[in-house]
Amino acid sequence: MHKPCPCGSDKDFSRCCEPCLKGDIYAATAEQLMRSRYTAYVVGDESYLLSTWHSSTRPQQLHLESEPASQWIGLKVLASTSGEAHDSDGRVEFIARYKINGKAHRLHENSRFVKERGRWFYIDGTLKA
Ligand SMILES: [Zn+2]
Repeated sequence: MHKPCPCGSDKDFSRCCEPCLKGDIYAATAEQLMRSRYTAYVVGDESYLLSTWHSSTRPQQLHLESEPASQWIGLKVLASTSGEAHDSDGRVEFIARYKINGKAHRLHENSRFVKERGRWFYIDGTLKA
């Protein structure tokens, strides 16, 4: 059964972000990690978000369930800089759209990622207007 991946890749969930969320594979590129983290927000997978957050910037908890429910509508990756399998850092610029209480919002962010011991981690992001 085809279940499109929430990250908007046009791939099947089971062949896109799900293996990362389940811990079967590590994201090979910064963009793949960014996509899988977006999907983790969509499905509310707090432990995946924390485990892919770099220890230097990682919050203790995310409180996903206590925040006003965001309904994620879509992800668009605008640009990737480095972040390939042979790189050790990278940046991904994206726009994520979501609704809170029926009101639409967009998050335009330039995220920084680093690879340590073969695994990509999210460091932080700069918001764009
Ligand atoms: Zn995906």
